[in-house]
Amino acid sequence: MAVLLIPTSALADSQRVLGLQVDHAPAPLPVANWTKSFWVNSPGANPLAGEGSEGLLTDEADVCIIGSGLTGVSAAYHLGKELEESDGSEKLKVVILDARDFCTGATGRNGGHLSPVAFAHFNSASQRFGTDEALRWLALERHTVSSIVQIIQAHGLEEAVDLVNNGRIELLVTPEELVEAKADFEAAKTAGVCLDDVTWLKENETFGSSYPGYSHTGYNLWPLKFVTKLYKLAAASPALNLTLHTRTPVIAINPSDGSSESSTTHLWTLTTSRGSIFCTRIIHSTNAYVSHLLPHMRGPTGVVPVRGQVMALRAAAPVESISRHAWTGNEGFEYWFPRPLEKGQEHPLVILGGGREATMPDYEFYVADDSEINAKAGSALRKFLPALFPGKYEEGREPEMEWTGIMGYTVTGDPLVGPVVDPNNSTNVYDGHFVSAGYSGHGMPRAFACAEAVAQMVAAEILGKSWSPPEWLPQHYLTQAV
Ligand SMILES: Cc1cc2nc3c(=O)[nH]c(=O)nc-3n(C[C@H](O)[C@H](O)[C@H](O)COP(=O)(O)OP(=O)(O)OC[C@H]3O[C@@H](n4cnc5c(N)ncnc54)[C@H](O)[C@@H]3O)c2cc1C
Repeated sequence: MAVLLIPTSALADSQRVLGLQVDHAPAPLPVANWTKSFWVNSPGANPLAGEGSEGLLTDEADVCIIGSGLTGVSAAYHLGKELEESDGSEKLKVVILDARDFCTGATGRNGGHLSPVAFAHFNSASQRFGTDEALRWLALERHTVSSIVQIIQAHGLEEAVDLVNNGRIELLVTPEELVEAKADFEAAKTAGVCLDDVTWLKENETFGSSYPGYSHTGYNLWPLKFVTKLYKLAAASPALNLTLHTRTPVIAINPSDGSSESSTTHLWTLTTSRGSIFCTRIIHSTNAYVSHLLPHMRGPTGVVPVRGQVMALRAAAPVESISRHAWTGNEGFEYWFPRPLEKGQEHPLVILGGGREATMPDYEFYVADDSEINAKAGSALRKFLPALFPGKYEEGREPEMEWTGIMGYTVTGDPLVGPVVDPNNSTNVYDGHFVSAGYSGHGMPRAFACAEAVAQMVAAEILGKSWSPPEWLPQHYLTQAV
């Protein structure tokens, strides 16, 4: 019988701590000496690492995108798509800026899962936001995942980005979780969600874990490699003139002072470590760090930086006996999947994340430094799989790599998408600024589509058209009612 060595009721307490109204300073800039992640630091994984970090800095742009993770690159990709469909003859000048190497924020440091929520928490989402919104929430995740998979398949990138379609298992480790999951399943089904991909699993059907659960659609992939390919697709768009400047932190944004022609035609001046860029519109794709440049978005009413931890651990059994699925368990804190076997490997490398419940009472909230790992989270993660799957992982075995990354949490658990609005300032001080941030540790099935919505808004403004939300976008994600 598997015994979990970590608390199994920490989720509610962590939500309570997140909501505490304590004033905190805005997020710092990302640190320069980040822990090495499997995705970023494997040889050859990041060909764009230092792209545009030397030489001349672009001096003006129509749109500046701050952040080169999944959100920022998806925004550029979708701007290209939106404008390709218009008959504008001038290319839109777009610049992506990143403080660090290309895509070395959360997207380059996460657990590698690309799984839409099947139905979990459907009842609580319906109660909080209404059934239509709960349906849109599931629809956005399905839209994201099917769009990403479609891009990968259309360009034959399956091997290049290690796309694996083996489904996902959600373990239900307490009797209460099982009851809640069954009720959520029934409610989602009654509301019209197609759940044909869901299979309920008994205690003896979860590859030796001895907990019940269910399986559903789910993928895993190499996120940095996908974002690199997406950047190349965006750069090839005939509608864009796209430039990337890595290792170029944006330090401040101010209204242009009108002292030069560029300054007169571009509303904003971005100050970077390498000089200034005049810009008309800005997309903030800085997720956990968003409050550095938008200080009103700090604290529990905005986006809270939260440190997460991940390791690459060698299993002690063949992949068939540990199952190829991606998994999550223990109220959503732990998540893991076996990497495809590489030549000469007998047992797979498993990417395992979580352990934050072992860091209570602070849960790594307001920690924005991913240059260090948390010993308590690391200890919980080391014990997790050997305890859950007796005999399939070696107790005491050290991971081959261990790293941290910074997630952006909101109190609702949902991202903030749309024009930047400061509720405490009635004058339009952020004219031309847009944001998509705060995916609360569940960004792979959301960031791509949220950035698509923001790109639609920006393109509509440029083309002088009105924007209405796509049917898959939950309206409570929006920063401004439409
Ligand atoms: C440890 C961990 C595990 C996770 N596991 C999963 C998972 O398995 N499944 C899942 O769905 N989600 C997971 N997530 C969440 C997911 O990775 C994120 O939600 C998603 O990658 C966010 O993408 P992003 O582009 O918005 O942010 P990021 O990828 O963080 O990109 C933001 C970028 O902005 C840059 N930046 C910040 N400030 C500035 C500035 N002032 N100037 C210039 N550049 C700046 C940063 O350097 C960074 O590159 C995990 C996250 C972490 C950290």
